[in-house]
This record gives sequence, structure tokens and C-alpha cells, in this order.
Amino acid sequence: MKKILVIYTGGTIGMVKDTLTSSLIPFDLKQISEVIPPLKKLRCKINTFKFEHIIDSSNMKPAFWIELVEVIEKNYNDYDGFVVLHGTDTMSYTASALSFMMENLSKPVILTGSQLPLDAIRTDGRENIVSAIEIAANDEVEIPEVCVFFDNKLFRANRTTKINAEYFEAFYSGNYPSLAKVGINISYKGHLLLPKPRGNFKAYKKLCDDVIIIKIHPALKEKYLRTMLETENLKAVILETYGSGNAPTDKWFIQLIQQTINRGIIVYNVTQCKAGSVAMGHYQTSHELLKIGVLSGYDITTEAALTKLMFLLGNFTEKTEINKLLDTNMRGEITK
Ligand code: ASP
Repeated sequence: MKKILVIYTGGTIGMVKDTLTSSLIPFDLKQISEVIPPLKKLRCKINTFKFEHIIDSSNMKPAFWIELVEVIEKNYNDYDGFVVLHGTDTMSYTASALSFMMENLSKPVILTGSQLPLDAIRTDGRENIVSAIEIAANDEVEIPEVCVFFDNKLFRANRTTKINAEYFEAFYSGNYPSLAKVGINISYKGHLLLPKPRGNFKAYKKLCDDVIIIKIHPALKEKYLRTMLETENLKAVILETYGSGNAPTDKWFIQLIQQTINRGIIVYNVTQCKAGSVAMGHYQTSHELLKIGVLSGYDITTEAALTKLMFLLGNFTEKTEINKLLDTNMRGEITK
């Protein structure tokens, strides 16, 4: 029988109404099978782990990602899969970070959450937890990667973005198809999954947070951009550009980016669009960026771009190696 560790970090999914005060409080994870009776019917053994400090995921920080990786690493050999219960607001950031921080992962690590608390009448939490655990314990396909399960779909973690604060279809993967769909049956698309790794599992626990995200917009002013780019210790900038990687061609803008690159700071071009890819040089408005050394993020999400840079800058010192890895599809995060 497969063994699954359910790790609870916080978020709406773990909340139930306190009968005395009517406010939302975390439910006791030990009683997970009591709160969700269908779990008793699954043919797997479920153990649980709860962090001392459970959080609304809006309070998520890189130090928590490291703790999460440590929990998975510590239990790696004892379990066949991991299901992480997490708030939806920053789930795609955590999921993307985990995907980079764990190398040669040969087991499923599935993050899930819900838009409604577990004891709400129409909660999506029950279905999400049951299916995420069923998928993590499945005998049909091996899932050697970090995933997000939400609203009947399994996604590659580092391809997801939260796109809806109201409906159950809260996550979107614009540049990579879902890995499985849950209906009457669970249909897995095995050919879309990452291949089983050959090397040994390795957890990386260093992250560099000297990275900023700047969204280009028509009213962007030189003085604000300069202040951000001249911030002390800055190591990398994610430039969220228009369409296929386009930005204004104003002389001050190009010069400012050029000066930033000359100071050894990485400038990484990621599109604001939810689907499609950066293709620098395609338009005149991105040609200059290419010429001055801006790096292409291809079809990476902002969440994956941020966490990939944090991972690379935290674990590699050679600039040429970092640039090479940025241009490499490391964990299925870019189409190349
Ligand atoms: N604010 C909550 C969180 O991200 C929302 C949710 O879980 O859906 O923790």
C-alpha cells in the first residue's frame, strides 16, 4: 500500500468554522479522514504533518519554502508521494520554488488548496484533497515532478498562475497542457510528464532574494525606474514586458537598462501575457533589448522566473553558468 504524507501549511483549505466564535480556525489535521470520509476508502496510508506556524499564504516567505523542502527531504525515503495543502494566493510561487529546489525528484509532490473552507457546504476543498491524494498514490503513471492540483486538473507546478479570485477554476497553465484530468475516471497524459530522473534526489536550501519584478506600463517614469534599478545589492531584474517581449524604445529607457546590465545585474525578459512567449528581435521594440544583453525568459511565468533566479543566484556563483541555466529548460518551466 502506498504511503502519502499530507503537509499542511495553512490557507483557506484548512479552515473550519469555530462553533463558539463563528470565525475561521485551522482544523485538526489528525482528523483529516473524519472531516473527509472518502479518504478512508482510498487504498493508501495517509500520514500528516502540520507546521507550528500555519499561515495565510499571503504571508509566505522564502524561509518557509526552505522549511517545506526540509520536511520533504527528511521524509523522502519513507513516502511514495507528498500532498501540500497551501493557500491559493501564493501557491504558484511556492510550487515553482519547490520545483527548482528539488533535483532528481522521482515522486509526486502535489500542492492543492481551495477557494472555500473545508466545512463550507459547496467547498471545493474536499474534491481537491481527495483527488490530489488519489493521484499522488496512483499505480498507473509515475509523476516525478512538482504539480498543482485544482478544479479537476493536474498542472505542472512551474507553469501555473492564479488567475481567478472568485471561481473554482483558479489556476491557469497557458503554455503547457494539464498533466491529468479528473472526471468519472482520472485520465493521465503520461507523455507530458517529466521523465523519471537518473540521479539521486537532491534538495537545495539556498535562495537569493535580491531579485525584483518590474512591470512595464505606458506611464513608467525614468526617476522611479532608476531608483529601483540602482537599489543596493540588486542581482537580477525581471522585466515584465508587453506581448512577445516588447518594451518602449525611449533612449533613457534603453540606456538605463544598459547601465544596469553593465553593473553585472541580470535583466530577464518575461511577458505580461498569460500565454505565449518572448521572442526578442521579432519587433523593433525588443531588438534593442536583445542587443544590450537582456536575457529571454521564453514562455516562463513570472512565478517561475522569480523562483528560478532566486534558486540560481543562491546556488551558483559563476555568471556564465547562471546565464546558461537561465537559457536551459531545467524542470519543464520553459518550452525550448
Ligand atoms: N488568502 C488565502 C491564502 O492564500 C486564500 C486561499 O487560501 O485561497 O492563504
